[in-house]
Amino acid sequence: PLDKKVAIVTGSTSGIGLGIARGLAAQGSDIVINGLGDPVAIETVRAAIETEFGVRCLYSSANMFSGAEIGDMIKLAVDALGGCDILVNNAGIQHVAPIDEFPDDKWEAIIQINLVAAFHSVKAALPLMKARGWGRIINIASAHALVASPYKSAYVAAKHGIAGLTKTVALEVATAGITANAICPGYVWTPLVETQIPDTMVARGLSKEQVIHDVLLEAQPTKEFVTIDQVAGLALFLCSDAAASITGAILPIDGGWTAH
Ligand code: NAD
Repeated sequence: PLDKKVAIVTGSTSGIGLGIARGLAAQGSDIVINGLGDPVAIETVRAAIETEFGVRCLYSSANMFSGAEIGDMIKLAVDALGGCDILVNNAGIQHVAPIDEFPDDKWEAIIQINLVAAFHSVKAALPLMKARGWGRIINIASAHALVASPYKSAYVAAKHGIAGLTKTVALEVATAGITANAICPGYVWTPLVETQIPDTMVARGLSKEQVIHDVLLEAQPTKEFVTIDQVAGLALFLCSDAAASITGAILPIDGGWTAH
């Protein structure tokens, strides 16, 4: 149902973004993947999307630190694939530390990659969507767009910020056939979660098992990690015609976390 659409998914060399990119490709969308990582591994991921789903898939190395490189990523989609119909802002990083010890450079990087990058990509993609009278903007926020946790000040600030950006964009384009929504996952088992466990162990003085069960899943009433496929499923639904009236929504998919 998404054939003839072109989708850009930022931060899609790994984790949730890769799951969403593969889900969109399975529906027939041509894809621009993006993210950091080993070039050989990225090429394997890119080629697999083309061969498994029979769509075109290109890689953009745009660093989400750079508004100019984000512009180049959108231009690549236009020049090589013919447009940008679906934009998924997913790239994200995390750092866990008490606020009075939080490194300035980590704070700035988190705000830049998790929030400011989405401003640049939306700004560049909106004229293309408006010209077609159709578009889908999906921002991968977090349960931390709705509630806070200690030691994640930059991440919580960026995710609350992207919820506000999402609502504002939705209002600005409400009559243009374009929707903008934020998906707010609880804990999903990805490299981002795995790599914050050691810092959380130090910050809270806990073992790895204690961090998983007493910190991560403590917040999640289902006591299960959300799966990448479940997040991708919600993103695909938001791209469907059935979701045309869902806009400006901040949608939890968090095993009941934010029901607390
Ligand atoms: P991940 O670490 O597996 O993937 C992050 C992706 O972003 C990777 O492809 C990485 O290369 C890319 N990236 C990082 N810095 C970049 C940069 N400067 N420029 C371009 N790309 C960059 O993480 P994930 O868990 O899949 O997270 C994806 C999104 O989901 C993030 O926005 C994250 O905040 C959000 N999220 C994750 C969880 C979770 O539990 N895993 C929960 C809620 C929200």
